[in-house]
Amino acid sequence: MTTTLSRRPPSGDRLPAGQRPNAALDLLALPGVGRFLRWRHSRLMLQLPLLAVSVVMVAHAFWGPDLAPKNLAALLTWVHFRGLVVLALLCAGNLFCMACPFLLPRELARRLIAPRWEWPRWLRGKWLSLALFVAVLFTYELFDLWSDPWWTGVLIVAYFAAALLVDALFRRASFCKHVCPVGQFNFLGSTLSPLEVAVRDHQVCHTCSTKDCIVGRRAEAPQALDRQRPAGEAQLPIIQRGCELGLFQPRKVGNLDCTFCLDCVYACPHDNVGLLARLPAEELVAAGSRSGLGVVERRADLSAWMIVFTFAALLNAFAMISPVYALEQAIAEWTGLTVEWPILAALFAVTLLIEPALLLAAAAYTTRWLSGTGESLLAIVQRFARSLVPIGFGIWLAHYGFHFFTGLWTVIPVTQHTVWRTTGRELLGAPQWHLGGLPESVVFPLEMGFLGLGLLGSWLVAWGISRQLAAERTLGGWAPWAALHLAIFAAAVWILTQPMDMRGTFLGG
Ligand code: SF4
Ligand code: SF4
Repeated sequence: MTTTLSRRPPSGDRLPAGQRPNAALDLLALPGVGRFLRWRHSRLMLQLPLLAVSVVMVAHAFWGPDLAPKNLAALLTWVHFRGLVVLALLCAGNLFCMACPFLLPRELARRLIAPRWEWPRWLRGKWLSLALFVAVLFTYELFDLWSDPWWTGVLIVAYFAAALLVDALFRRASFCKHVCPVGQFNFLGSTLSPLEVAVRDHQVCHTCSTKDCIVGRRAEAPQALDRQRPAGEAQLPIIQRGCELGLFQPRKVGNLDCTFCLDCVYACPHDNVGLLARLPAEELVAAGSRSGLGVVERRADLSAWMIVFTFAALLNAFAMISPVYALEQAIAEWTGLTVEWPILAALFAVTLLIEPALLLAAAAYTTRWLSGTGESLLAIVQRFARSLVPIGFGIWLAHYGFHFFTGLWTVIPVTQHTVWRTTGRELLGAPQWHLGGLPESVVFPLEMGFLGLGLLGSWLVAWGISRQLAAERTLGGWAPWAALHLAIFAAAVWILTQPMDMRGTFLGG
């Protein structure tokens, strides 16, 4: 039997944009950017520059200046990278995962050895990534990572090593799905994104017999397209993998767990997967089972992630303002402790465990009382946990946006200085150390805008969830959560109006 390495759909199989019911805007249908993204090596082209930047950052971390504002590893990681990630999530989608450089070494490794094992059942889900997320936040505060290029370099190298090790041993995208805390953060943030990898026409999926978007495309004769595969064809090699995250396009809902890798786009023989515009946050209201995830509102690990995502946003911002130093000092004097970690651990426990538990229980109890639902408090909390994500993301945006915008141009003199230090010549000119970023008079309204959008999003999502819970008493079910969102918003406004450390830049003094 003749095989071919490419299987183009017949031209009549391509769906003109006007016939795609979902496509108000389909990025993949646009000339230029769409053509580039449909090219199956486009991801590699995005990953390679980031890999090159990562190599420079690691080299600078270990052999560059010790002073963080002069070091590309510290500056790019803690000022620019984080800001760009959240802004990309707000404006487009999960672009960082799409261009993730951590996966390139594993792609190379997989050319040499095929992973043999399935990810252990007891480690599946999001608990491990949540523990790692909290551990990174804790380490960041305890060891002042923003001011330590060497440890920042260690963190980057550890990330590359972990991704390589996990995905060299375990099949599919185990690292992305079960381990990577940055990925889970991006998945939650991308629920607020305006773009989604989605099916263009569900009718085409209905009649599709191969389901290549999930099982992968195998080499086969061109005429075998879209008919039942003959017995024995399963032995043919896979020439394009399907979704390694286990998301089956026709049943996929939203961006959770989607890395924007576009494998499904390249695998679908009917050109039926697009990068479609949609209403941000709408997926947070959707109830019921989703491909690859099950019922989100019944998954304790996802609910825990949403809660920690939101309260950690407050904690991370709170840790950068003066009152936290006064608080830590007072606790140290009161307890007689002379080391920081128990005080920090107590702060984390109060902010990420005790405070959310009390607030969410109170909101759930009031919702049960006002809406008349017979659901348990835990079930109500899990339902409404999704409504926390917009305000949580708004706080991350405001906080990371503040550092990004106020330190926007600082990368220029640091790059100039690095080139001078490396080559002995000022090839990019003398370092312009006076360059900073946008003035706070511009950045502050942006921060408040992000918070306001987050609050509005949370209210709308909570309203939709409350309608599902008790259509007759929607207002009663909604009000306690709206009050909680408002309280979180007010706390964030208070934090962001305090003098904040300009971590990682010379503006910090
Ligand atoms: S997305 Fe493509 S491969 Fe997947 S079911 Fe639909 S038509 Fe088939
Ligand atoms: S293959 Fe899966 S993870 Fe990749 S873009 Fe498609 S749905 Fe998302």
